[in-house]
Amino acid sequence: MKLSKEERLRRYPSIRFECRNCGTIVITDSSEYTDKRTTYCCAQCEREYWRKVTRNAKRNAKQDEQQDA
Ligand SMILES: [Zn+2]
Repeated sequence: MKLSKEERLRRYPSIRFECRNCGTIVITDSSEYTDKRTTYCCAQCEREYWRKVTRNAKRNAKQDEQQDA
């Protein structure tokens, strides 16, 4: 499905945000293509962020176990 430029801008307005993983300021541009990013500057940052979160969650779970013992 191909959207018109106006339709893209209406659905995915240009926004400015800070990448949650690396802190890069990102300004999305839907006028040239459908830019749906809202949290991460790139797919790699998204993967890295979730890898870190998963690692921390595992470590916290381990600490909880030790506190219970
Ligand atoms: Zn990033």
